[in-house]
Amino acid sequence: MPFDRWNALNDAPVFPPERFGLVADRLGRILRTRNDILLFQTEAVVALEAATASLARPGLKAINIVTSPFGAWFGGWLRRGGAEVVTLSAEPARPIDAKAVTAAFDAHPETKVVIFCHAESANGVLNPLEEIVAAARARGIVTVVDAVASVGGHALDVDALGVDIAVIGPQKSLAGPAGVSALSVSPAAWALITAEGGPRESTLSLLDRKAWLDAGRGALPGTSAALEFFALEAALDRFEAEGPAAALVRHAQAAKAAREGLIALGAQPWAAPGRASHLVTTARLPDGVDAEAFLAAAAHLDTDMSPGVGPGAENLVRLNHTGRRACFEAVLGNVAAYGIALRKLGLEADIATAAAAVAAHYAG
Ligand SMILES: *Cc1c(COP(=O)(O)O)cnc(C)c1O
Repeated sequence: MPFDRWNALNDAPVFPPERFGLVADRLGRILRTRNDILLFQTEAVVALEAATASLARPGLKAINIVTSPFGAWFGGWLRRGGAEVVTLSAEPARPIDAKAVTAAFDAHPETKVVIFCHAESANGVLNPLEEIVAAARARGIVTVVDAVASVGGHALDVDALGVDIAVIGPQKSLAGPAGVSALSVSPAAWALITAEGGPRESTLSLLDRKAWLDAGRGALPGTSAALEFFALEAALDRFEAEGPAAALVRHAQAAKAAREGLIALGAQPWAAPGRASHLVTTARLPDGVDAEAFLAAAAHLDTDMSPGVGPGAENLVRLNHTGRRACFEAVLGNVAAYGIALRKLGLEADIATAAAAVAAHYAG
């Protein structure tokens, strides 16, 4: 084994400490917030767990909105910290109805925190972020939003809406590395977090992480994950060069084209118009078609289709158009592959019409 082979990823230089703060500022600009940004040298699910663990304590009542398997985790983390949790579940694999949320707020007036996912990658639905946050804000309820998938692909105006904690990862719409994540914390969220009873001397403690802010945002505690932060900077360079507005349009266009392409194949898009994620488009397979057999029929094409995840998504297939995949080639390839799989299973599919439906959204 030659150990002297040069590789740019070996012996990476340290990440310049003064650039952690700049990275946080750039993420804050994407979220359109002046709230504090905390950085995590871990995948985004850890940042989600840290947010819930840092808010949870005996005496705190939270509403957990469940629209995918992630929701069950949120509730578990809150309960583990001693919080009282009201679970508000949508129909399986469906978005929550904003009216159900306001009814739950009214039924539980002592609620201090609500947590939910913005755009679901598990089943392709979009929750009514604006309505939920407005209703929470009117009642002084702190909002925690899983925006890991949505950031960059959906409008997410943290300060204008009043989102208290937005948890993000660069690996989805921002097309960046998966080993870093971040969250924004509002003053109202800090007030809950700094109250007696939260975790300390724990990697999940946001209060511990606040020391980084208070110390002027130099190097992160522990050994810096330099490669991840260089990769994040590169992703941010590309994202900013394109522009957030253009990236959003690109994702919306991919979602629309995928949807229309599927409809032209005779497939049934799962999410209602306006309640569909821009990151993945899900379709419900015809009755009697097994998702595994369907995906196996298209596996040789090496496109980006996968089974839905979680309860209610057993019969769903996801067409991925997240990040760099939010483009003509990926959407066209996925829609055509969907048609090919239908045909291989003996069903009808007009692939030419579906391709034309996709192309119509990219005619320029
Ligand atoms: C991907 C994703 C996560 C988890 O992120 P990981 O970094 O992969 O653990 C959380 N929530 C949503 C909505 C996601 O799409």
